[in-house]
Amino acid sequence: MTAKQKAAVVAIIGRPNVGKSTMFNRLARGGKAIVDSESGVTRDRHYCHAEWNGRQFYLMDTGGYVPDSSHGYEAAIREQVELGITEADVVLFLADVQTGVTDTDVQLARMFLNRGIPFILAVNKVDNDQRELEIGEFYALGLGDPVAVSATGGRNIGELLDLIVAHLPDTGRLALPPDEIQLAIIGKPNVGKSSLVNALVGEERMIVTPEAGTTRDSTDTPYRFQKRNLNLIDTAGLRRRTRVRENIEFYANLRTQHAITRCDVAILLIEPQPRLTAQDISILQKAVALKKGVGIAVNKWDLVEKTTGTLAEFKRSIYEQLPTLTFIPIDFISALSRQRIHQLMQRVLQIEAARELSLETRQLAEVLEPVIAATPPPAQKGKYITFDRIYQHRIKPTVFRFITRHPDLVATGWQRFIERKIRAAFDFTGVPLRLEFLNVRQERERK
Ligand code: GDP
Ligand code: GDP
Repeated sequence: MTAKQKAAVVAIIGRPNVGKSTMFNRLARGGKAIVDSESGVTRDRHYCHAEWNGRQFYLMDTGGYVPDSSHGYEAAIREQVELGITEADVVLFLADVQTGVTDTDVQLARMFLNRGIPFILAVNKVDNDQRELEIGEFYALGLGDPVAVSATGGRNIGELLDLIVAHLPDTGRLALPPDEIQLAIIGKPNVGKSSLVNALVGEERMIVTPEAGTTRDSTDTPYRFQKRNLNLIDTAGLRRRTRVRENIEFYANLRTQHAITRCDVAILLIEPQPRLTAQDISILQKAVALKKGVGIAVNKWDLVEKTTGTLAEFKRSIYEQLPTLTFIPIDFISALSRQRIHQLMQRVLQIEAARELSLETRQLAEVLEPVIAATPPPAQKGKYITFDRIYQHRIKPTVFRFITRHPDLVATGWQRFIERKIRAAFDFTGVPLRLEFLNVRQERERK
């Protein structure tokens, strides 16, 4: 997958208990059954990467909390559909042969038809041939041929995956202008995400118009800054329409994960408090694991009573909680009074430039040769570790390769030391780096 080619998203939608989670887990495993020794259905996983016949896509299980009262129930179902439609390229609508067609199924079917989103109707729990005869009644939904499947038994799962893949758009939903930076603005509710987008876009009205034939998520906002096109991915959108309180957090998480997955740079907004929440930290780790550009913006800085040293003290406290992530820059802004919001955008461009930075082998050697001569990797098991070649292998993600006969013997402490030296010499602000220590055979085998 190239950097700009985004994988499509498939959302599983249906009533509670039709088997969405079970199906999610099976599809996530390329159709393979969950074997007994594993933990069974993972309840807390609702978003993952999947692959079938070489096609990559993301799976989203949208069935969050659904309350019992019939009023709340309807609103919850509507939200589920709304999320599926705004976030997904294809909907997998799951029904249940054991209950037959229910009123909610009819409502769901109507919503899909009205909104014109590509969908696949699958009837689950068809565990045997007898059940297969019963799926005829699902034609009444007016959605065409239902596929008879069994998430637990595995019936027709390969066919279902074929069908899903056949429905995927060619390059994912985003036929992007070539140089557009996908910027995800993430953070917990009320931290000021929408205010920031409004503060930015309020000044420079939408200059970029989506090209014909491209679809955009409803929460995407095109924005132009210093001759660069950005796409602001604001994860706050859906909350405005959410009426069922218990669902807020579930959807916020799902959207955050989706936003991080499809962005180039993620900016985490936090409240003006010098402590990060566990969730903030896990979001940062997720973005780093996916090798995205990352920044932190402390918002509402207007509310803080400042004395000399307040800012430095804040930074120190935040980095103390992120000992391995000190390459993530921290900016202090106020979305409300528009303080330093342009510096933040400047930062985003800096991070993106750093993601594109490609060092020549000579440049790297000038910095690293003297460092390694003075402080070579500690000898292990009586072996001195030397490097035949060192070079930057690629960008997005940024990977450096160190070719040596003893890749396994390079101490991790020394690896971190070298990473610090690279960062001190070149601007990789906000960019996670990967250092690969390989022998010649491993180098050949890896792409
Ligand atoms: P969700 O609420 O839609 O996510 O549904 P779950 O995945 O939690 O499944 C609800 C129940 O249906 C669980 O007890 C599953 O074991 C069961 N179930 C799921 N798929 C099948 C199936 O293909 N056949 C049968 N007989 N039961 C299934
Ligand atoms: P979101 O849920 O992250 O999109 O947050 P909102 O943009 O809706 O903002 C939540 C609340 O914080 C609103 O009342 C905003 O007016 C307020 N707010 C946002 N940014 C700032 C800021 O920089 N300073 C102050 N004082 N309030 C802010």
